[in-house]
Formats: sequence, structure tokens, C-alpha cells
Amino acid sequence: MTTIKLHNTKTRQREVFTPIDDKNVRMYVCGPTVYDRAHLGNARPVIVFDVLNRLLRHVYGNDHVTYVRNFTDVDDKINARAAESGRSIGQITAETTQWFLEDMAAVGALEPDHMPRATAYIPQMVSMIEGLIAKGHAYAAEGHVLFAVESYKKYGALSGRSIDDMIAGARVEVAPYKRNPMDFVLWKPSDADTPGWDSPWGRGRPGWHIECSAMAYELLGAHFDIHGGGNDLMFPHHENEIAQSCCAHPESEFANVWMHNEMLQVEGKKMSKSLGNFFTVRDLLDQGVPGEVIRFVMLSTHYRKPMDWTDKKRDEAEKTLREWNNPDRISIVSDTAASEFDRKHIDNDVMDCLAEDLNTPGAISVLHRLFKDGNMEQFVASARYLGLPAADFEYFRKSSIPAMTEPINVMVANTVNDLIGARAKAKSERNFSEADRIRDGLLGAGIRVTDRKDGTSGWELVADFDPAKLEALK
Ligand SMILES: [Zn+2]
Repeated sequence: MTTIKLHNTKTRQREVFTPIDDKNVRMYVCGPTVYDRAHLGNARPVIVFDVLNRLLRHVYGNDHVTYVRNFTDVDDKINARAAESGRSIGQITAETTQWFLEDMAAVGALEPDHMPRATAYIPQMVSMIEGLIAKGHAYAAEGHVLFAVESYKKYGALSGRSIDDMIAGARVEVAPYKRNPMDFVLWKPSDADTPGWDSPWGRGRPGWHIECSAMAYELLGAHFDIHGGGNDLMFPHHENEIAQSCCAHPESEFANVWMHNEMLQVEGKKMSKSLGNFFTVRDLLDQGVPGEVIRFVMLSTHYRKPMDWTDKKRDEAEKTLREWNNPDRISIVSDTAASEFDRKHIDNDVMDCLAEDLNTPGAISVLHRLFKDGNMEQFVASARYLGLPAADFEYFRKSSIPAMTEPINVMVANTVNDLIGARAKAKSERNFSEADRIRDGLLGAGIRVTDRKDGTSGWELVADFDPAKLEALK
């Protein structure tokens, strides 16, 4: 069996990964707060832990991994969005949850086994909070319930801070009902305009941190293998999750391995609305950047290093993927049952890279070598394993899109392919005048169709491509 090594934030070391139960390897990753489109940085942990999920499933078996990623659907940002838009909270969270799933599918992320919504676990959160109060780790005050950080000796161990440093370094909310400024909210009161649930402390809603502790406990138990998220969550969110879970279930240790991905920048700068370099995954997809290109760029940097998104990297990734999706090179596997084929042919060097703390840039180098050497079985299986599904690559597979100076818009590619499909249908019905009309119309729009010996057709852009003429052909 492949030995997996993972960097554990808790011990600050790369360790051999040993599951608690190799028949049920359990991983929890903090998911999005659903009030808006996922920005590009949100895609990074999704892709990183998707690779880990694939690796665990490959090593321990597809049925022996439980991967949980939550949706935070109760949050003051959601309430604010509802108030400013005049729409209901339910509409906003349902819509943005769906957007998130679509955008993450577009970047090749498999869905986790469980995607719990916080609002479906309120009774479990209430019960965990009651337990914390009973054990002396939390107290109710003025409709709030607070976690008493001084009651947990190891508070701060994950991020390596002392409580005094945290008070000095953090902008903590000093509220009169807090015994210690670092005490954090488990439950807070709701007014008539804010979502709320009945509780022993009055009508209110949970704090953010308790939801992950409660859902992880419900779905994975008190002690599980891996907890992941972006390193911006290490403090206070993960520190607070540990405090809650370890105090509620002192017999266990919560997560054995803590993994954190580094942040994403754009052209060397922090992505921010004020710098004008803020964009969502959907913005890129709508500009015609295929999801596979986004994924490829993300995988080109190791997850523990800051990831710099640049136009240059995007263009290079697109060029590489075009080359890799040359149908003449990969046609050998187009009809093979993918899962069986892949299991047999995944390259050992690719596996070794991933098993070494998810060395995805190393795995991509191996893919380059496999392609160059013409080891197509290993290449295709390994590319698919990384979520770069060579032989069934929607965008690139449709035709042999020639190398171009300008990346073609995916909408254009889809339109051309639809028209080529219509032309093939006309030909098969012996309607040659219609087939010729489509071919000539495409040429008039600047797209030359070439028929191959096997009956399929490719196409290329020639001079004076005219999108308006192409539209008129539809
Ligand atoms: Zn969380």
C-alpha cells in the first residue's frame, strides 16, 4: 500500500498518515458561507482537498473514505445580503449553494460524501453548547453563550499563540458580558428580523465556529483523521473548533491531522475589491477560461505555498492543455471504461508525488514526461486521476482547436461544434445542400471545416473571424 505523508499543522511536521480506521478514513473541510459567488481564492481549498480525497480513495478504496464539507447558511453576511437585496435568506442561500456546486464542478472537484447545511444541525449545536456549559467550559450571559477560553489549557496550540499574545494582537470585541476578551460566541440572541431558533437561552442563532464542531461530530464522530481549510481559518476558527470539540468530548482528540492551504494572490497582489483585481470563478468561466485551466494553474503550485494567479500562467496552462488534448494522440482510450482503465494505468511516479504531501507540481512534471515519451495509457489515466480528464475533456475534446494567438471563447467553440453536428446530421440524411450551406456559412464567418478520413470533422479559424456571421448561422 502507498505510504501517504502529510504536513500536520498541529505538529508542524510532515508525518506518515495512519488512519484511525482504514475501512473508513474521515476528512472534514470547512466550506463556504453562501451569500455570493465563490471568488477564485475559494476554489483553492476545494481543489487541494479534492486531490487529497482522490488520493485517499485510490489508496484505501472508494468506499472507505468519508469526506464532509459544510455549507454555512446562517451568518450575518447572509442576513445583510437579504436586507439589502429585499430577497429572502432562503432564496439567497439556495441560489448561492447551487452556484457554488456548479462552479466547483467546473473546476473538476468531485462532490464530498456529505455537504451538511448548518441550519439542519441546530439541535445538535444546542446540545453541544449545553454540554459545554455543564462541564464548565461555557457560560450564558445576556442572551449569549460564550466559550471560556481560560477553561481550555491548550487554547492557541494549533496556531502557536498564547492567550495573552492573542489579546494583544487581535482586534477583539470587548463586550460587557464577556469574562475574558478572547471568549467567543457559541450562541447569540436574534431579534424579530433575524433568523432564530428557540433555545434554553432564548430565541437566537449559533456562532460560526460551533457549527463545524457539531456537524463534524454528527457525521464523523468525536475523533477523525483529517481536518482541512485555508490557513486564514487557523485562527480563530480552527482554534475555536478544537476548543469546543475537545472540551465537549474530552475522551477524544478531534482531528489527528490538520492541513492548511496557503492563500491566493493575483499578479503578486492580494485579491481585493479595492485593488480592482477581485474576480469570481464564474467571471473566469464566462470569459471562456475553461475550468480545467483554472484547476491546472492551481495544481501547478504546492498547496503550502502562496499561489499567484497570473495571466501568463493561465495562457501557458491553456496551451499545455490544448496540446495534451490532441484527439489524434489520445484516441486510444476514448471508449474504455474510465474507472477501470485508470486504476490499472495510473503512473507510479504520479502517485509517489501526491503521496508526498500532495506534491501536485511534481505530478504535473511527470504528466509532461509521460506525454513527451508517448506513454499514453499512463498519461491519460494519471491526468484523469488529477482531475484533468484528458480523454473526456469537454472543451478541448470537441474538435482539434488549432493553436491561436487569442484564446477562443468557449461559447464560440460550442456554437461551431453544434453547427458541425448539424452538418453531419444533414449529410447522414443525404441533405447535401444543407450540409454545404453550413460549411460555406462557417467559412464566410472565418471558420474552415476539414473532413477527416474517419468521418469526423475538425475546424480552424482562418482570417477575419466574424462572430456576428457565426451567430446568424445558428
Ligand atoms: Zn469550519
